[in-house]
Amino acid sequence: MRSPTIGLEVHVQLNTASKMFCGCSVEFGAGPNSRVCPVCLALPGALPVLNRRAVESAFAVALALHCQIQPFSQFHRKNYFYPDLPKGYQISQYDVPFSRNGYLMVETEQSHRRIGIIRVHMEEDTAKMMHGRSITEHAVTSLVDFNRSGVPLLEIVSAPDITSAEEASAYLTELRAILRTLGISSGNMEEGALRCDVNISLDAGTRAEIKNINSFRFVRKALEYEIERQNALLDRGEPVVQETRHFKESSGITVSGRTKEEAEDYRYFPEPDLVPLEITPEWIDTVRQRLPELPEERRRRLHEMGLFPAEAATIANAPELARFFDRTLSVFPHGKEIANWLLSEVSKTLNARNCTIDEIPLRPEGLAELLQLVHRGTISSKIGKTVIAEMLATGKSAGEVVHEKALGQILDPETIRGWVQETLAQNPKEQEAYRLGKDALFGFFVGQAMKRSGGKANPELLNRIVKEELEKQ
Ligand SMILES: [Zn+2]
Repeated sequence: MRSPTIGLEVHVQLNTASKMFCGCSVEFGAGPNSRVCPVCLALPGALPVLNRRAVESAFAVALALHCQIQPFSQFHRKNYFYPDLPKGYQISQYDVPFSRNGYLMVETEQSHRRIGIIRVHMEEDTAKMMHGRSITEHAVTSLVDFNRSGVPLLEIVSAPDITSAEEASAYLTELRAILRTLGISSGNMEEGALRCDVNISLDAGTRAEIKNINSFRFVRKALEYEIERQNALLDRGEPVVQETRHFKESSGITVSGRTKEEAEDYRYFPEPDLVPLEITPEWIDTVRQRLPELPEERRRRLHEMGLFPAEAATIANAPELARFFDRTLSVFPHGKEIANWLLSEVSKTLNARNCTIDEIPLRPEGLAELLQLVHRGTISSKIGKTVIAEMLATGKSAGEVVHEKALGQILDPETIRGWVQETLAQNPKEQEAYRLGKDALFGFFVGQAMKRSGGKANPELLNRIVKEELEKQ
């Protein structure tokens, strides 16, 4: 079996308020060509102005990926013609990017490996073409929406350190968790906020590039297909051609696009309308100090708190869930119990309503109140499930629901003793059998007395009293 060498180039749209070089909004889903100005339409005389927020978002990503930030970097023009590129060039970074030499720790079931990051650089997005038919067939109509023209992009280039489709998928999952935790991108592949190109070769031979894959599942499928295709070629003694390929989602295969162009074909030259970017250590420090706890660190913390690795990952990789968890934890310091409820009852509701945790009528303080009631034994965890369902449906507090529905546990020993005595009085035969050694009947008495209490007797107290009453007989 030949070993695959895989590198990923990921394009990330930043969720800044405005575009990379003008003040137009980057909001997704606005009407076509409604977010445009002379700069992003490349009208004569319009000049770019660098977006400071975009630069700081870029720093944050580079720092999270352990890259070295370069004190001096430059923007270049990458020249080519395409109808979605009104200037005839894209402003990008070339041989002097703002960051280099980082890494990302990537975990799969088999391994925990360090994948190198060659560079992170800044550039601008192109406009968006919409074709009446697939571009690979003959298009009948083509429309262009310039809203996306000039949206800030980061390109994150991995070293060819990835060795399987599974590891590529884990790399993307970890990267997206970091981007979301930093709050600098939605990381939403369906909306095009994250786009992925993959390079793959076998036994370090000739590589093929597959462009613009738009889901994690497709990245994995494309790689699996490509490994098989290249293996078959080499088995037959045929060469792998260096080329760009496209992944066909419908059939799960890759098809040949064009032979790969080289960097020199783009005639890169320094962008004369932007001064070089000088980055002071103070500026980097300011951004570094604002970095939040990153997913890997967060997973470790939750794991140490007693959560299973899968639970820790589910919470830590979703920033809004992690925030909710931490706020609950600040008032109810029992992480494992919070995770149990968040990942069962609450997640069920999120899935059923297809919404995020910020959109349901449950706040961390509310969940903490409920868990406190269960923790203290005021209600059983079974009743807790009824209560949380009501809280999620109505937005009422745990206390209100317990009070209104009279769901609190009965903790009064004499009330419970009454139920136990009635139970024993009504079951003389079973009592006799128990005395003769049929110990299993103990559970029967507890069950019957619990029924009398309407399920509300505190279980520990009930057990103790049943024992006491049986011993009296
Ligand atoms: Zn604009």
